[in-house]
Amino acid sequence: MVVEQEMAEIYPPTSEDLSEYLPETDCGKCGFESCLDFAEAVLTARKDVGTCPEIDDEFAKLVERIAALKKEPIPYDIMMAQVPCELIEINEPDENAPLLITSNFRETVTIMRAILEQTGARVFLLPTFTHGYSVDNAVHERMFKALEVWKAIQENHVSEKTLKQRMIIPGMAESEKNAIRQLTRWDVMVGPVSGFLTPLFLWENDLWF
Ligand code: SF4
Repeated sequence: MVVEQEMAEIYPPTSEDLSEYLPETDCGKCGFESCLDFAEAVLTARKDVGTCPEIDDEFAKLVERIAALKKEPIPYDIMMAQVPCELIEINEPDENAPLLITSNFRETVTIMRAILEQTGARVFLLPTFTHGYSVDNAVHERMFKALEVWKAIQENHVSEKTLKQRMIIPGMAESEKNAIRQLTRWDVMVGPVSGFLTPLFLWENDLWF
């Protein structure tokens, strides 16, 4: 069955998603009853992240940059437009920088680039061949393949650029984690479903340089 590409979404962060990166103590010092309510207020620009005294200033700035990002729907007429599976270096990554895997759907790559560039993440971003399907549809159609991930890593000589043989795959592709790990022998971490939260994921996992 072919998935209707107009179903592709950009998965903006939800308050539930964001609250997972907050202290989750529900202490109420921000004026809200819970971290979940606070997260909703942050995402709807009703509250500054810095209002929470439990959050580090740098982390608060990062959340504010994410909240300010444009999260517009993908136009129908560009569905399945592809980009080459070439390694993209964002914000001058060094050999410690993490490797993020994504699909080769042009809009996915454009959005991920904007998120990472505008939040200051130093990473390698690697589109892998999915026939131009977005990650969610590629997984559904079995087009997000371990073999394509491995091919992209090898063809781009990624192991010469990174010290650690470790990659982060999109949360939507979690089901492919074991297949990718078995084929590549690299460590595979599963990132968030919403690409907008990737910077927070990097921060929380000490992958922010
Ligand atoms: S002050 Fe911070 S930790 Fe406390 S409820 Fe608000 S967001 Fe949660």
